[in-house]
Amino acid sequence: MFFNNQSILLLLYTFCIFLFGCFIRYLEYSDFFLCYNCQEVDSPETLFDYIVVGCGSAGSIVARRLAENKKIRVLLLEAGNHGNSLLDIPSFGLLLQQTPFDWQYTSVPQKRSCLSLHNNASIWPMGKMVGGTGMLNNMIYVRGHPEDFNNWFKEKEGYSFKEYVLPYFKKVEKWTHESDYGSVYISNLSFSTKLSSYVLKAAKELNFDITQHTENCEEGFGLPKINSINGQRWTPANMLLKKGTPNIILRTKRIVEKILFHNNFEAYGVKYSYLGDTYIARASKGVILSAGKYFATF
Ligand SMILES: Cc1cc2nc3c(=O)[nH]c(=O)nc-3n(C[C@H](O)[C@H](O)[C@H](O)COP(=O)(O)OP(=O)(O)OC[C@H]3O[C@@H](n4cnc5c(N)ncnc54)[C@H](O)[C@@H]3O)c2cc1C
Repeated sequence: MFFNNQSILLLLYTFCIFLFGCFIRYLEYSDFFLCYNCQEVDSPETLFDYIVVGCGSAGSIVARRLAENKKIRVLLLEAGNHGNSLLDIPSFGLLLQQTPFDWQYTSVPQKRSCLSLHNNASIWPMGKMVGGTGMLNNMIYVRGHPEDFNNWFKEKEGYSFKEYVLPYFKKVEKWTHESDYGSVYISNLSFSTKLSSYVLKAAKELNFDITQHTENCEEGFGLPKINSINGQRWTPANMLLKKGTPNIILRTKRIVEKILFHNNFEAYGVKYSYLGDTYIARASKGVILSAGKYFATF
């Protein structure tokens, strides 16, 4: 007998990873081949009310909220491409790291940390696609802690988490059992391992509170809520695409290179590149920079 069960499983797993890699490459190139010679051409200059840079977790919510006013035209520029509904399978998120759907950043070699990593450098994943990092993250949903926000407001009299932050959490959330508007679906885990029940048991023995992590943001241990609906990964970009908002013009594969300012102060547009050409888009009301933590420009 050459193979035992474990090695068969390992082979199967490796083969699945290989297939997934092929699928990702297919997604990358199919667009190019299918649409050879029929790329959308941007007009050299265009005027919008707002320009939102980056269609990730934040950008897709902001664009949708702005576009509630049907008279407002929003240009949403995303450097990456559209994904595919197969990528909404939660466990695929991790496999998207170091693919064309990730910016593939790595740290510089570290002197005192990352000592067990290749070249002493760590990878810093960030989504490069419609949905942004929300497409490759762990999907755990938890509100920011009220005390952190209250600390921010410490020197601002009259400001508080309850008054100035909480209403916006409520607006954006979509607890599956209620509320109708938000862009962020939140649901319970559909399964959990034995290990998690042991951890909860241990926490209880040590007198920590066991919480349900509901809207009330209780402290303690509990199974997390996740951004998912019917077992499918959910990012706010899904809502944007599902609702098909006509006054949002979403353009993918556009890399914003520069924010344009009047007098170094008032942003009036952006310079972006698409298929090797450079374009300018102007905004009469504002430019919103929601391009993630690094705002990658090349
Ligand atoms: C591995 C991992 C696991 C995580 N797990 C969790 C979790 O479980 N729960 C949680 O709450 N958070 C988690 N996070 C963090 C969370 O995903 C991010 O904080 C969040 O997605 C950031 O949203 P964002 O809109 O600021 O940026 P992003 O979602 O990264 O969106 C930025 C978008 O801007 C685009 N962009 C960048 N530069 C340009 C440019 N020049 N021109 C045009 N477009 C551009 C990018 O392609 C991207 O689509 C995780 C993060 C990582 C990396």
